[in-house]
Amino acid sequence: MSLDALDALYKEVILDHYQNPRNRQPVADPTVATEGYNPVCGDQLTLQLKLVDGKITGVGLQGKGCAISQASASMMTEAIQNQTPEDAERLADAFRQFMTADELPEGDLGDLQVLEGVRQFPVRIKCATLAWHTLQEALKEYRSGQRAGKLVIRE
Ligand code: ZN
Repeated sequence: MSLDALDALYKEVILDHYQNPRNRQPVADPTVATEGYNPVCGDQLTLQLKLVDGKITGVGLQGKGCAISQASASMMTEAIQNQTPEDAERLADAFRQFMTADELPEGDLGDLQVLEGVRQFPVRIKCATLAWHTLQEALKEYRSGQRAGKLVIRE
């Protein structure tokens, strides 16, 4: 596969998630619910998690914003299904590393790798990581049992 074809495939996956976002349905009676906002681009997300017996059994995510933010959020909702909060936290850390580290970290992030191209556009990295910041805020809320309120990504 040529590099151009690979690029096209990446764009296709991102656009597919943007146009057909997964797990859009709000979760009934969520264990935690957190909002995320990226003022640089105007991306907004609302995330609900349902946790049963130490596992994420329900994920709901509604949002609006650019294709990168919404596609990354949609992919996240699939990636964390049935994970423990610890695994989800590790994945969020790994993804943020993947977006921000100078060198690409080791390890395979599966479908999330399609967002690699975003690394070339520093201003869009916050778009890609917004859902993951919001997830970490929701998990923090879950651990502490306290309502976290609205998360705003700062410069
Ligand atoms: Zn954005």
